[in-house]
Amino acid sequence: MTDLIIIGGGLAGSEAAWQAAQHGLKVRLYEMRPTLQTGAHQTHDLAELVCSNSLGSNLPDRASGLLKNETRLLGSMLLECAERASLPAGGALAVDRELFARLVTERIQSHPNIEIVREEVKEIPNTPTIVASGPLTSPALSDSIAKLSGEEHLFFFDAIAPVIHAETINMEIAFRASRYGTGEQDEGDYINCPFTKAEYYAFVEALLNAERIELRAFEEAIKSGVKAGHFFEGCLPVEIIAERGIDSLAFGPMRPVGLRDPRTAKRPYAVVQLRQDNLAGSLYNLVGFQTNLKFPEQKRVLRMIPGLENADFMRYGQMHRNTFIASPKLLRPTLQHITRNDLFFAGQITGVEGYMGNIATGLLVGVNAARLLNGEEPVTLPQTTMLGALCHYVTHADLKDFQPMKANFGILPSMEFTSKIGKRDRGKVYAERALADLQFALSGATARSKVEA
Ligand SMILES: Cc1cc2nc3c(=O)[nH]c(=O)nc-3n(C[C@H](O)[C@H](O)[C@H](O)COP(=O)(O)OP(=O)(O)OC[C@H]3O[C@@H](n4cnc5c(N)ncnc54)[C@H](O)[C@@H]3O)c2cc1C
Repeated sequence: MTDLIIIGGGLAGSEAAWQAAQHGLKVRLYEMRPTLQTGAHQTHDLAELVCSNSLGSNLPDRASGLLKNETRLLGSMLLECAERASLPAGGALAVDRELFARLVTERIQSHPNIEIVREEVKEIPNTPTIVASGPLTSPALSDSIAKLSGEEHLFFFDAIAPVIHAETINMEIAFRASRYGTGEQDEGDYINCPFTKAEYYAFVEALLNAERIELRAFEEAIKSGVKAGHFFEGCLPVEIIAERGIDSLAFGPMRPVGLRDPRTAKRPYAVVQLRQDNLAGSLYNLVGFQTNLKFPEQKRVLRMIPGLENADFMRYGQMHRNTFIASPKLLRPTLQHITRNDLFFAGQITGVEGYMGNIATGLLVGVNAARLLNGEEPVTLPQTTMLGALCHYVTHADLKDFQPMKANFGILPSMEFTSKIGKRDRGKVYAERALADLQFALSGATARSKVEA
């Protein structure tokens, strides 16, 4: 008899299956490959890494390193396999992708509580289920998710604008203002980077000549505009808008209407607006600047924006196929569906971005499904931990601007520092608080859920 169905044997689904099985549940893990391929996966192994072979920083004072330490503490099987398959990569955890996937597949295959079924699931089952079908969820299952949640709550593409650290914006050039002075804050809600005509034309030329990330067949829709997020019908990369005419950006996302540069008292020729991206106000995104340029090219070209010559990028812009649900409307921080206690979502489909975040949410959901079926309360992790903050973010973000989020210190509740403290030292302090809070949580409610692999 099966206690729990898991859809998708990727990073989240494999970790979830292992955790639930270790807690004594009989798990049936459905993986549609190799019968049906996703367009990005190449093998039939479980936990295949589709692109980079790096799971990000391993340094304890970096956001991704902290997430690893938390996931390690929680007893992740995939992280253990990644460490066994690791390659020299400085401060990062890079792996031999084939060995990593093989190790995970062997562990799952040999677990007495897990049955692997190589079949596509087309409908969400009515029995306890974890949906971990990833960014390339099959079309039939996507339809079933849309039926359950409403079509407007399922997105198909990431259209991420770059995000920069506020302290690296040159406010001698940029200025605060809202269009027509309509903002909520007295000094204006946006930071505006003003262009002269010559600066604008030089910028557009650089944008048009910059190297782009090659689109794959399943991403071709990007060229004609995509549905990516609640209010982003038809959004296009800036370099594609620029191709339509030299002034098309100046009439589009860079339009200067309703803005006057206080230093010249004139309307700039064009403007890039920056919008606050986190509560602490330490991160700003470039409004309407979704782009598909290669990351080093983004750094070079976007630093031509007046005021951003020294910009430090927290995240580069991206556009790619990415199925994700409107988690702020549909999920609780335990990653349970709002109306169905026994339906969980894990991995990239929740809007948590990146290999490590996907593994970590799989772990949490595997434990939570087991707790629920064993008559215990599912766990909500403290918001001060990186995993707790990611779950909080995806379930509480403003739906209007909801886009997938990877581990970063900007989503943790901010701390007050009495003296000036460097970025690395700040990371260390946030990491210490996170691990102490996780240990504390584990010594209480979650202690019983930690199992030895
Ligand atoms: C092209 C691409 C490149 C990426 N590159 C990176 C990167 O370099 N670094 C990074 O950190 N993140 C990257 N990501 C984002 C993300 O971290 C990975 O996609 C990650 O593998 C997601 O983990 P997951 O478990 O949610 O989904 P997946 O690992 O994709 O697992 C989902 C599994 O579900 C299966 N499946 C789908 N539908 C069904 C169905 N109906 N029935 C049964 N099985 C089904 C799929 O075959 C797949 O094996 C990338 C994403 C994409 C799309």
